[in-house]
Amino acid sequence: MEKMMKGFAMLKIGEVGWIEKEVPTCGPMDAICKPLAIAICTSDIHTVWEGAVGDRHNMILGHECCAEVVEVGSMVKDFKPGDRVLVPAITPDWNSLEAQAGYQMHSNGMLAGWKFSNFKDGVFAEYFHVNDADGNLAILPDNIDPVDACMLSDMVPTGFHGVELADVEFGDTVLVIGIGPVGLMSVAGANMRGASRIIAVGTRPNCIAAAKKYGASDFISYKNGPIEEQVLAMTNGKGVDKVIIAGGDVDTFEAAVKSVKPGGKIGNVNYLGNGDYIKIPREAWGVGMGHKQILGGLMPGGRLRMEKLGSLVANGKLDVKPLTTHVFEGWDAIPQALQLMKDKPADLIKPVVKLY
Ligand code: NDP
Ligand code: ZN
Repeated sequence: MEKMMKGFAMLKIGEVGWIEKEVPTCGPMDAICKPLAIAICTSDIHTVWEGAVGDRHNMILGHECCAEVVEVGSMVKDFKPGDRVLVPAITPDWNSLEAQAGYQMHSNGMLAGWKFSNFKDGVFAEYFHVNDADGNLAILPDNIDPVDACMLSDMVPTGFHGVELADVEFGDTVLVIGIGPVGLMSVAGANMRGASRIIAVGTRPNCIAAAKKYGASDFISYKNGPIEEQVLAMTNGKGVDKVIIAGGDVDTFEAAVKSVKPGGKIGNVNYLGNGDYIKIPREAWGVGMGHKQILGGLMPGGRLRMEKLGSLVANGKLDVKPLTTHVFEGWDAIPQALQLMKDKPADLIKPVVKLY
């Protein structure tokens, strides 16, 4: 394999460009992969232009892709060069104590399961490194297109994790705040878990159309007044059983707490980039005794989840095609695709770049 490779990197906060780096080396449990297709994430924008993970210099961007394995370490059992694989955005250290406690996304530190384009170079490169290959990669099912497979890195597992955090059950009325690609997958996941009514919050017509396909029954615009007032008006003043937050800001928790019934659950997967505190309204939170639970989580990552979610797509239970609204071809398109995500035109859900 050649020694040097090119990658598209964050040069410093607010600046991106192509760089040359050494091809990463493969430890005994690791794999080196080359991307077949990559997707741009809202988090890439937060990383570069909001400094979300802190200042980084010449760090290759990207954590959403599907790939071909080019090298594996001596201890890797289940993967070999030439295998086409699903790659999770979160690649935990499976032998960490946090993983043993069931919180693999926080292995060796809070949020530290997120390694690509955070603690090490990401996937917008000719080659990238995967720690614990047996624990983190999954074989790409033959009938999943690499473009669609990119949605399994982060959008599907994160949206579905919102559903897990909110603990959606049969018959629940569920409020999904934010219907970008993450929230859309929360709508799809809530629908699969048997929600009877799904109220979706968002304004972009493309996203509203996709949310309808995924099972949303009612729509609210956050631009038309407080979310909770609209929710209470739609539910005879009762509120919803569960809330998934996949958009908004620190103030959105106030709307969520006011919208959920006593005993209800709120699952947040939204990144909170600004503000020191989130707001929990005292009275609506039952003056501290309302049994309204709030959980926020980074998606868990890892191989088993990739295999199971991949199986949903491979078996036709989940169609991710509505997410990939803009498909580009070739390495040169990566800067353009990133800029598109930054500009977020109304018709964009996800930009993907094919590299094969
Ligand atoms: P998008 O920006 O595409 O979507 C955001 C959604 O929130 C849109 O529907 C938008 O509506 C809506 N929205 C914007 N402002 C408000 C508001 N004030 N109140 C209510 N809704 C609002 O984001 P993504 O779907 O790509 O990602 C969602 C979040 O998830 C991001 O913060 C991202 O960083 C995070 N994330 C978290 C991960 C995790 O593991 N926990 C992993 C990946 C991403 P409109 O239709 O008007 O645009
Ligand atoms: Zn992402």
